[in-house]
Amino acid sequence: MFSGCLKRSTFVGIFASLIAHGVFAQSNQVLNLYSARHYQTDEALYANFTKQTGIKINRIEADDNVIIERLKSEGKNSPADVILLVDAARLWRAEIEGLFQPVKSKTLEQRIPKNFRSTDGGDGSQWFGFSSRARVIVYNKASIKPSDVDTYEKLAEPINKGKVCTRSGSHPYMLSLIGAMYERQGEAKTEAWAKGMVTNMARAPKGGDTDQIRAVASGECGVALTNSYYFARLMRSDKPADQEVVSKVGYIWPNQATSGTHMNVSGGGVAKHAPNKAAAIQFLEYLASDQAQQYFADGNNEWPTVKSVKTNNPALNKLGDFKMENVSIGAIGKNQIYAQKILDKVSYK
Ligand code: FE
Repeated sequence: MFSGCLKRSTFVGIFASLIAHGVFAQSNQVLNLYSARHYQTDEALYANFTKQTGIKINRIEADDNVIIERLKSEGKNSPADVILLVDAARLWRAEIEGLFQPVKSKTLEQRIPKNFRSTDGGDGSQWFGFSSRARVIVYNKASIKPSDVDTYEKLAEPINKGKVCTRSGSHPYMLSLIGAMYERQGEAKTEAWAKGMVTNMARAPKGGDTDQIRAVASGECGVALTNSYYFARLMRSDKPADQEVVSKVGYIWPNQATSGTHMNVSGGGVAKHAPNKAAAIQFLEYLASDQAQQYFADGNNEWPTVKSVKTNNPALNKLGDFKMENVSIGAIGKNQIYAQKILDKVSYK
């Protein structure tokens, strides 16, 4: 009798321990993730999901365009369950290509603010933003007065003639910025702005955001636009050359007295033909959890989209608080088509 009890409790103990170690936790389940993100902290992010759920993640990492083209060519046979992309312009493109399926999830609806989701409305959402970034202004401290460049609008004014550097207007980061302007102030003003930018260019558009920051530091450009995380990355770099760049460059949260700083997201949704749909939704809900939000945002010096989640990023702390633009990310995505038309009209390459 006594020994029988012992045996039973031992068995219960082993069983509990097996569950705790994930042996019975759906260990044959997989999730196929197509991701345009590739940061070191993402490793811990994915490992924690597998630890919590037993679902193994197969990852394909490539640039946004490569992922979108791959999904299109795979069609119905695509093994993709979850698609992660950066910038509303690309999320919107994947959406109109029909690459996502709408998701209805109380967790996602409660945790991801509406202005950081696709705007299809109706029964669910096509995609969700999981981290946010700002499009900011950087200027050469030796040659530029910050009050001359503290709004997006001022960059296009005559006072900045020959001083402005930008990456290609057709890049998603620029299309989204212009799409937000279009939403705020309509076609005529946005076109006048784009025209002024072309007039003010110090050189033809080229390079990425970090190249603009470096060109501002060298004095080739007086002022430029960049996503916030590129500057934060340089701030956190221990390379002397990067520190030299940071020391010469001033940083501005644009439009603080008016419409606020333009925001964008990195995010994703469930693939249209997801073979493992339940696991895909579970993964998106996991990305909205406190711990995953911290990894997801901090890995690229971004902010969590879930309001209650705080990160402790030394560069972002140093840059401080700011007023954000209040334009929905879904609308920004949709407006990129108008943005591109304006760019073509004013020859903003
Ligand atoms: Fe980027």
